[in-house]
Amino acid sequence: MIDDRILALYELSQDMLFHKIPAGRLNYYIDGSLAAGEAAARQFSGCDIFDLYRQYGIVVDYRTNRSSSFGVTLRGQAVMGEKECRVELYTDSIRALVEHSNYDGLPELNYDRALRIHLSHEFFHFWEYKTGTSVTEQLDSVETIRLFGLSRKAKINRCGEVAAHAFAKRLLGLPCLPNLYDYIYLIGTGRMARGAFESRIETLTEILAPVKAI
Ligand SMILES: [Zn+2]
Repeated sequence: MIDDRILALYELSQDMLFHKIPAGRLNYYIDGSLAAGEAAARQFSGCDIFDLYRQYGIVVDYRTNRSSSFGVTLRGQAVMGEKECRVELYTDSIRALVEHSNYDGLPELNYDRALRIHLSHEFFHFWEYKTGTSVTEQLDSVETIRLFGLSRKAKINRCGEVAAHAFAKRLLGLPCLPNLYDYIYLIGTGRMARGAFESRIETLTEILAPVKAI
């Protein structure tokens, strides 16, 4: 199984500002994000995700195929507001994820499992909203520009995604961070070559390997 920290780094590496993270700070963002997701999941340990939606009055809005117009990765989105919190789900996209969830040694998804993963992910974002604690905001900013003594700073948005993956993993007892299923989907549908994925994992593993003592 691919290690959580590698899959967390994979997610982070897709952040627009990833290149602004100093190499020595990668562990800070990875571990901080994973820990935040896990800590939130511990509060709901043993809870059923459908019960949590009922308990907090979150509406699930099931929609059919929007995947073709919105790209492959949009399986839904959370709409948070004073009046209503709603999670929109695109059921065809979830089905497609299930169809392409076959990868060495990894348990294949069924529709219920994939749905729970998605609902758990979005519940984490709801929880960030409800408690006013955004993981992305809580972690340090990176410096994006330094010019004539001026410094601009920005947040790493993907930290919230890593935390949401960690939340779903722990709540549902998954064998891996669920973003792995996104990559398997891309491989299964021919959008990413398996070899390219494997060499990416190798590269990310090397980045996180402890510095060898000389
Ligand atoms: Zn998310």
